[in-house]
Amino acid sequence: MGHIMKAAVLYEAGKPLVVEEVVVADPKEREVLVRIKATGVCHSDLNCARGLSRGTMPLILGHEASGVVERVGSSVSRVKPGDRVILSWAPACGHCFYCHEQHPALCDSYNYAAGQGGLWDGTSRLKRAAKPQETINHFSCVSSFAEYAVVPETGCIPMHEEIPFAVGALVGCAVTTGFGAVVNDAKVRAGDCVAVIGVGGVGVNAIQAAAINGAETIVAIDVNDEKRAVAEKFGATHFFNPKTGDAAEYLRGLSHGRGADSAIECTGRPPALTMAYNLVRPGGTLVVVGIAAFGEQFTVAASTLPNSQRKIIGSNYGGGVPEEDIQRILSLYRKGRFDIDSQIGERIRLEQVNEAFDRLEQGVLARSIIEFA
Ligand SMILES: [Zn+2]
Ligand SMILES: [Zn+2]
Repeated sequence: MGHIMKAAVLYEAGKPLVVEEVVVADPKEREVLVRIKATGVCHSDLNCARGLSRGTMPLILGHEASGVVERVGSSVSRVKPGDRVILSWAPACGHCFYCHEQHPALCDSYNYAAGQGGLWDGTSRLKRAAKPQETINHFSCVSSFAEYAVVPETGCIPMHEEIPFAVGALVGCAVTTGFGAVVNDAKVRAGDCVAVIGVGGVGVNAIQAAAINGAETIVAIDVNDEKRAVAEKFGATHFFNPKTGDAAEYLRGLSHGRGADSAIECTGRPPALTMAYNLVRPGGTLVVVGIAAFGEQFTVAASTLPNSQRKIIGSNYGGGVPEEDIQRILSLYRKGRFDIDSQIGERIRLEQVNEAFDRLEQGVLARSIIEFA
């Protein structure tokens, strides 16, 4: 039973993904088989492929995706075959402690599944076509570097027909992560001074969300001067390269000597995290979005934390209810108020995924999107 499909498999961190035939099983009772149409190549995939984050191999990466429902399990009611969907990389169960606390991205069932490299029962629907006794693990309940994915029912977020698949894919991760960090965690208000560190797939969305929320001063900070034009296109009012001076001093100069009301750190690099903390004003908020390599630490002068009443908030998948944020973003997009089209870089085939990783590592200006027929 099941389909034979083409997928990119990671066998060993640090090695290229191998595109080969994989058998995807039929969806169980509360699962959905989705035909993938578009999937972005995101830093979280790269980190896992390079061994900077944990993953149980072999596995199929890819977590920023959209597609069409092909088949549904016997008790699925949320979607039907033919529906267009965005896939969630943190599908929630709806009844654990964290789901009740309105933190579905921390869902216990999801975390168990992701930790096992499986779906909610902890088991995989993927195996090698050449060696059917060998199971392949799922990644974040998505695994979209493949022609098909079996996902939990709640991992399917319905998408309006007029939303292009590439746009839907980006909304599945980078857009919602950056948007939510600003709206839910930094709670940016009209007139604010906001710093965004790292002008990448997430950073441009943080910049754009800050602009929509009425921030007066939006400072994009990046070590690559080529990012200035991109940052300004999405609404940054200033650009600063920290190699050229002291970012905290620069921010104070733009904010009545106070510092930024909030900083959104999107790189995950420890020195950038320390810098970001230091440029936030007393009482302001550092939102940490970028994911550091496993085991890395960052330091702040401990005495400054109580005295300055600064807040440090970790932000995962936008920090709110991702599904609701996704609908808000799609509504802004459809009204022409949120630019996602310009975030789409080259459109590639699955076989080019390793080259896309190399380019992402070098710092590309827009997202590579793998498209399927
Ligand atoms: Zn991602
Ligand atoms: Zn839950």
